[in-house]
Amino acid sequence: MASAFPPGPIDLHAHSSASDGTETPIALVRAAADAGLGTLAITDHDSTAGWEAASDEALRQGIALIPGMELSTRKGYASVHMLAYLFDPNNAGLVAETARIRSARLTRAEEMVTAIGADYDLSWADVLEQTQDGATVGRPHIADALVAKGHSLTRSDAFAGILHWQAGYYQPHYAPDPLTGVELIVAAGGVPVIAHPATRGRAGVVSEDELARLVDAGLFGLEVDHRENTPDGKERLRELAAKFDLAITGSSDYHGAGKPNRLAENSTHPEVLERLVDRATGWKPVVPVLSD
Ligand code: AMP
Ligand code: FE
Ligand code: FE
Ligand code: ZN
Repeated sequence: MASAFPPGPIDLHAHSSASDGTETPIALVRAAADAGLGTLAITDHDSTAGWEAASDEALRQGIALIPGMELSTRKGYASVHMLAYLFDPNNAGLVAETARIRSARLTRAEEMVTAIGADYDLSWADVLEQTQDGATVGRPHIADALVAKGHSLTRSDAFAGILHWQAGYYQPHYAPDPLTGVELIVAAGGVPVIAHPATRGRAGVVSEDELARLVDAGLFGLEVDHRENTPDGKERLRELAAKFDLAITGSSDYHGAGKPNRLAENSTHPEVLERLVDRATGWKPVVPVLSD
């Protein structure tokens, strides 16, 4: 069947240098092919800038690509990451909202660097040196600058120290409510899945009432199999998925050299991928034609 997805693991969460991954979209897709993946989703933070290059490279490498994004949303002080798949990247509502988030992230990063710069030798130019043109700027880029200047050993070390939210330099940035996020994604023909919902333990960041509202708005699934979900949290998420008839996904959240997460360390069942693709109306997966 020409439209069948290639064999191999399905990894639905990975970042490129269009946000805070360390590899270009092309290098990311090559790494996925080298890791033996059948299907990769590119899910940069608040950006679709990597879609085109990644799609072209997927065809060259003979793997399937699901264009996606990890949309920043926020509930109170807690950031809630919303994976979005196969939406229309030109949808006006989503384009406007992601532009607003990226702009807020930029201002926030500049303010954080000014504050850090009062105590450490660090300038905004140092951060720009670590950032691809047009990329969604985040703490990882500040971390890379701190490493380059010798203030931290690694990205993770910077996050555990200077960039930690309790270290005195942390600032939040604008992000929409999770419900608004789901509504925007669905309105753009996309399929929303909450990313790593139980990183803070069993209770997670979203209450059952909130989850019910997200489900009514069109939430498709929960990213259960992710290294940052706690064991108790995963158990609770499986119960919630059964209760609300939500799909379960698994993925790596690969950031290249920026995080220890390896491609395909978690994966998604082919039936879930099929249902996800069937649900989407905004964009088509890139599937190589396999000759048999
Ligand atoms: P921000 O959204 O700018 O506050 O930065 C959060 C991003 O930093 C997340 O998307 C993660 O990819 C990344 N991140 C969080 N913790 C770590 C860590 N310990 N090591 C490397 N990257 C991290
Ligand atoms: Fe990230
Ligand atoms: Fe995330
Ligand atoms: Zn991510």
